[in-house]
Amino acid sequence: MARFVFITGGVVSSLGKGIASASLGALLQARGYKVRLRKLDPYLNVDPGTMSPYQHGEVYVTDDGAETDLDLGHYERFTGVAARKADNWTTGRLYLDVIAAERRGDYLGGTVQVIPHITDKIKEVIQAETDHYDFVLVEIGGTVGDIESLPFLEAIRQLANELGPQRSLFMHLTLVPYIPSAGELKTKPTQHSVKELLGLGIQPQILLCRCDRPIPENERRKIALFCNVRPESVIPALDAGTIYEVPLKYHEEGLDQEVLRHFGLSAYGEPDMRRWQAIVQSIKQPEGEVTIAVVGKYTNLLDAYKSLAEALTHGGIAHNVRVRLDWVDSQIFENDAAAVARLEKVNGILVPGGFGERGSEGKIEAVRFARERKVPFFGICFGMQMAVIEAARNLLGIKGASSTEFGPCEEPVVGLLTEWLRGNELERRNANGDLGGTMRLGAYPARLAEGSLVREVYGAAEIQERHRHRYEVNVAYRERLEAAGLRFSGMSPDGVLPEIVEYPDHPWFIGVQYHPELKSKPFDPHPLFKGFIGAAVKQARLV
Ligand code: GLN
Repeated sequence: MARFVFITGGVVSSLGKGIASASLGALLQARGYKVRLRKLDPYLNVDPGTMSPYQHGEVYVTDDGAETDLDLGHYERFTGVAARKADNWTTGRLYLDVIAAERRGDYLGGTVQVIPHITDKIKEVIQAETDHYDFVLVEIGGTVGDIESLPFLEAIRQLANELGPQRSLFMHLTLVPYIPSAGELKTKPTQHSVKELLGLGIQPQILLCRCDRPIPENERRKIALFCNVRPESVIPALDAGTIYEVPLKYHEEGLDQEVLRHFGLSAYGEPDMRRWQAIVQSIKQPEGEVTIAVVGKYTNLLDAYKSLAEALTHGGIAHNVRVRLDWVDSQIFENDAAAVARLEKVNGILVPGGFGERGSEGKIEAVRFARERKVPFFGICFGMQMAVIEAARNLLGIKGASSTEFGPCEEPVVGLLTEWLRGNELERRNANGDLGGTMRLGAYPARLAEGSLVREVYGAAEIQERHRHRYEVNVAYRERLEAAGLRFSGMSPDGVLPEIVEYPDHPWFIGVQYHPELKSKPFDPHPLFKGFIGAAVKQARLV
């Protein structure tokens, strides 16, 4: 029977609750336990799929096609456990389900209320599919004190009561700020935040205290005294040089021991932390450096490309080099002809996923530069689509080549399936209901062509990767593009959807319709990121 660890946050947001949860997951795993992580988000959107990356950061996609919070990406990167749709619930999705049940008459005329109906639903989703795990870590989004978090806190209070302390634990992440004018660390915000929780009937057993410097013993005791926890359970969470150092630091501060002690599990022996030591060593003492230009739209907001930045770091780990990212706003290539010079200094060019026309011409320019100057190139989703448009325009001379995402066009080299599928295939897919203006979401298989670079990179003939897009490269242009040198080296098993393109006469040029960054792990870098950084290392003549 699974034990549940509920992770809340206090004082301020952005303390890194997601990384903290993921790190605890990694620590328990390093002690041989089976873990699963979940996130409950108090906002009213049904999922983050429609939220702006400016506001909410990246939308993380699971194998089973859910659009989820980016923290699920951290969970997966730290534990290797594939996140699922059942691992992310928002207030909106919970209400949607409860209201649908009400409309069906499931409540038999009863009054439907936040308590017990919403709270019961929360308890149900927390416990769903958890039988085969030792620990289920449940992160509550938002900050304690928010009005919208209340039903979640009430639900976990009830659930912990039902499960008992043998099967439940509350961990609270707070901030211990340093006030320079006083020259002191302040514990009051933590005390207030715990009071807030106590007012809701929740006594946290472990306090994880974010701080920019070591917390002296007497301050730890003070926090323990005022918050009714053991001094050993006040865990300093100091800033780390890399997020992958956090599991090691938490272990040094005794977090995993305290969790096991609470559950009455023996904490003899040490967890196996070799995986994390090796990663941190490689990040902190690289043997060289490569620079990758990421040519995109949301360059002022790193959260929008979270998994991408991590996957590039993982590619660096594989080659023991530091990967410096040069975030370039693609629009500069549209207004200033000299701007491409910025790409002369980099060892690789990556055009990531994106939506909408703005900046697309600049991305096409960046593709052209990479192709002509033989700079390693990696196009992801939108980036692949731009690579195909570039080839159609500049190799085939099809001036009007474009994507219907930007409006109706003469030469829809990229378009909705409904716009370019013909005959039987169109009818078959229509009958299956897998058409329309819908997103292709989640894992799909692709077959890799014999003798292609991707086949070598993956070392496999068939792969599964995660998708999130509406538009597809139009297979009708395949023959002409291949004659011009752009090989369609990965296709959907039915041969209809182009999934990968590459130039055999280029040192490393690959475009993929899916998002490989979602599956990369620091301890298991994705083959494409490993290959891309390997090519950048060669370009930099480091080997
Ligand atoms: N906008 C493109 C589409 O919908 C690409 C999406 C993406 O890059 N994730 O097909």
